[in-house]
Amino acid sequence: MTELVDIGVNLTSKSLLRDLDGVMQRAADAGVRQMVVTGTSIAASEQALELCARFPERLLFTCGIHPHHASEWDALSQDRLRKLAQQPRACAIGETGLDFNRSYSPHEVQETAFRRQLELAAELEMPVFSHQRDAHSRFVEILRDYRDRIGKIVVHCFTDSREALLDYLDLDCHIGITGWICDERRGLELRQLVKLTPAERLLLETDAPYLLPRDLQPRPSTRINEPAYLPHILEAVARHRNQAIDALAAQCLENSRRFFDL
Ligand SMILES: [Zn+2]
Repeated sequence: MTELVDIGVNLTSKSLLRDLDGVMQRAADAGVRQMVVTGTSIAASEQALELCARFPERLLFTCGIHPHHASEWDALSQDRLRKLAQQPRACAIGETGLDFNRSYSPHEVQETAFRRQLELAAELEMPVFSHQRDAHSRFVEILRDYRDRIGKIVVHCFTDSREALLDYLDLDCHIGITGWICDERRGLELRQLVKLTPAERLLLETDAPYLLPRDLQPRPSTRINEPAYLPHILEAVARHRNQAIDALAAQCLENSRRFFDL
């Protein structure tokens, strides 16, 4: 069976925790052996660490403060994230970045939290798991300031334009592709852009429980996305890249292992 790594699962969200053993089992049955649990706040990162202790063979986690939660950033945040990042199974700093779409936190606050987390990644020599929505130009400006001090960066759930993609590739970023590509309306541009992305820069993720692939058959009544649907995303990416599924799976597995040092 094709072996896959889901590089973005919000496994600390209630809708997945409710049936955690089922989620883990269905993922394993679908070939998704390892998953990276996204840390979106200090509390969520701590919870992710606990989940990793329960499934040490299969889970890793990122530790960070999502731009939605940037208002929670305070004088202690960097130290707390540093301690979390030094725990076993911690594999990246993030989710961090800018989200000017919902702007749950003021833009300046988001920028400060983003910069501090990039500094931490540079200090600890860890990869960055980043998020950008409607904030591309500021995001790239900030990233450029730190780029030569940071090793690996993934722009997760990429849904942006051709220009944005080229900027990220120019900065030698990895590109995280979700089930957004399965959306027959919103995913059209992404279907073109996966063709332009070098194979060695592609990473696959569900971003579960969000972004249930729209063309999933049968459509789960719960509408909850889960890592077991990653092969469906793999197939869509392979189709739009005119690439054999097995070859793409092997490439993405290798990319994930290299990126997160699995
Ligand atoms: Zn995100």
